[in-house]
Amino acid sequence: MLSTNTEITKISRVGEATARKLKKLGIATVKDLLFHFPWRYDDFSRVVPINKLVSGVSANVVGTIELIQNRRSRRRRMYLTEALINDGSETLKAIWFNQPFIARNLRPGDRISLAGKVDENYGSLAMVSPVYEKITAARAVHTRGLIPNYHLTADITQKQLRFLINQVVKSADSLVDWLPEEIKKRRRLPSLAAAINKIHFPKNMAEVEVARQRLAFNELFLLQLQSQLIKLNLKASWAATINFFEKETRQLVERLPFKLTNAQRKSAWEILRDLEKDSPMSRLLEGDVGSGKTMVAAIALLNTALNKKQAVFMVPTEILAKQHYNNLAKLLVGFNIKIGLITRSGKNITHNMEHVTLNKSKKQPETQIIAQQSDIIVGTHALIQEKIEFRDLALAVIDEQHRFGVDQRKTLVEKSGNKNTTPHLLSLTATPIPRSLALALYGDLDISIINQLPAGRKKIITRIVPEDKRGAAYRFIRQQIDSGRQVFVICPLIDFSDKLGVKSVKEEFDRLDKNVFPDLSIGMLHGRLKPGEKEKIMQDFLSDKIKILVATSVVEVGVDVPNASIMMIEGAERFGLAQLHQFRGRVGRSQYQSYCFLFSEAQNERSLKRLETLVAHNDGFTLAKMDLKFRGPGEIYGLEQSGFPELKIASLFDYQLMKQAKEEAVGLLGKDEQLKNFPLLKEELNKKETESHLE
Ligand code: ADP
Ligand code: MG
Repeated sequence: MLSTNTEITKISRVGEATARKLKKLGIATVKDLLFHFPWRYDDFSRVVPINKLVSGVSANVVGTIELIQNRRSRRRRMYLTEALINDGSETLKAIWFNQPFIARNLRPGDRISLAGKVDENYGSLAMVSPVYEKITAARAVHTRGLIPNYHLTADITQKQLRFLINQVVKSADSLVDWLPEEIKKRRRLPSLAAAINKIHFPKNMAEVEVARQRLAFNELFLLQLQSQLIKLNLKASWAATINFFEKETRQLVERLPFKLTNAQRKSAWEILRDLEKDSPMSRLLEGDVGSGKTMVAAIALLNTALNKKQAVFMVPTEILAKQHYNNLAKLLVGFNIKIGLITRSGKNITHNMEHVTLNKSKKQPETQIIAQQSDIIVGTHALIQEKIEFRDLALAVIDEQHRFGVDQRKTLVEKSGNKNTTPHLLSLTATPIPRSLALALYGDLDISIINQLPAGRKKIITRIVPEDKRGAAYRFIRQQIDSGRQVFVICPLIDFSDKLGVKSVKEEFDRLDKNVFPDLSIGMLHGRLKPGEKEKIMQDFLSDKIKILVATSVVEVGVDVPNASIMMIEGAERFGLAQLHQFRGRVGRSQYQSYCFLFSEAQNERSLKRLETLVAHNDGFTLAKMDLKFRGPGEIYGLEQSGFPELKIASLFDYQLMKQAKEEAVGLLGKDEQLKNFPLLKEELNKKETESHLE
């Protein structure tokens, strides 16, 4: 028997070319084939007598070929292959286009099985382009029962994949089934081998469902085990206690030009309570774009610094690092707190030391001096990549990410400058995960939610603008600028491209600068500018020297320019719904009425639907739900870009199964924290860990 680790090239009929194509699907071994699950099934479960066929309904017919021939259709300039099939009840015509080889494969007298939709054809019934299969002693794979359909890439056919999987499916018996027996029994889950067999070749949908439950349980259970292990680990470690400095916190809040929302207050309070404990916090702060997460983080940062401990604020882009750095410097003025900035672009480490009085006598790299002497250090991932060690790190805040990765946490502990404690962790995200889901998914995280926007915010008006209204849109933009506002223009590309009609930052900048708004100051921002240049442009936009900023998606998350009131997106069909919502979140951050204009060359219905969804809904949570309808559960709203676990078959919205998986994970670890009695499971966990390291 084949081993599941056998490479696919060793299977009969897989040559190098096929192997290359399969590789594109991520299939290299027999095991990969077994775990390439169908995404839907054609139901040909009933063999229907030909005289009972109904037009418009899919069916499976079994009969003998009476006649088969090719002919050329003059009018439509193509080959037609026509066959007559008789099953004793009646004769049925089958037609294929441009596949003349079929007439060589099939001969009169052959028994065949056909599956497809039945259509009216000149008054009689026919099957057009049915799936066919010669019936030999072996069972029919392509035309009988429920027929699996797989995701494909170019040049691999459903038939090929089914053939291959059918060939190896028996070897599922030798897969390691690491799910503990007692759990299988309690949850009435079939063996792994049975599940794999049924998911590919089920008799009916009930079998599919049972198989799916088992395979999904595998994924969710591992996920839950991982987070429960993290939780146990955190519980067993120490953290610095951060006392609440009430007077100073009040002072900070009172001198803001606005009142905190209740949701902001509640979240801040939850975080401060956690910080007072001697075990590390692990909390997720969730709030839609513009809900004011930064202020809440700032309160935690301030209190940490006042406790004479250090805090880091990690962000995804340099632009954002600089922005947060500047904001914090302003917000925390007068508290005698040193703020440092560490980012990295290419090989250059840039930093800003205005707020750090450096003691430069020692022979140390400047980043190390910042890491030692600042109270709050803002930075990109350079913060944990650079060879630096903090003085006494007690809090790490991470912006626009759901959680700290296992690796990130390890590194932070190693660099914290204090071997005996683990820093408190706080992640901020705008991706709206329902609380129940987040709790189930991230069993190790506590969650705070900012579920309201600051008072006085107006609903952003979103419009899809047809090309013939472009002029009118520009006139509107000019009015807005005349009344003091500013504008973002987003383009999908940096440079001019041959790709028809895709707008680039450079071209659009030239066009607006020369032809449309020659009298206005326009800036250009993209990832290939030098850090200093980026900073200058952002600074000029923030201080209103630049009126229109033409940018790529570098401004997607976090960028805060409250005076901007128009977000204009070119080639909007090229962005995902989550991304578009993030772009739109760059405006509407103050009392001014704001607008989002979507320009799109796409004519296809799906992308138009997506844009219309954005027009109809302003709230990220609703959008997330709508997005589910456009995409499969594997690639929901914003998940790809923000570090959600990748699930092959389980759905993040399968609460019931998620809950069961969590119960079982908690139960198992309660009895056997080290998993001593479950070596197979332990091995699988380690494997998963290693894989995530390699990513
Ligand atoms: P996000 O949650 O998207 O990170 P920010 O923290 O950047 O949002 O806040 C968005 C804008 O709203 C900022 O300009 C911030 O100063 C402002 N802001 C924050 N909280 C409030 C509030 N309670 N009332 C009014 N404006 C606020
Ligand atoms: Mg933010």
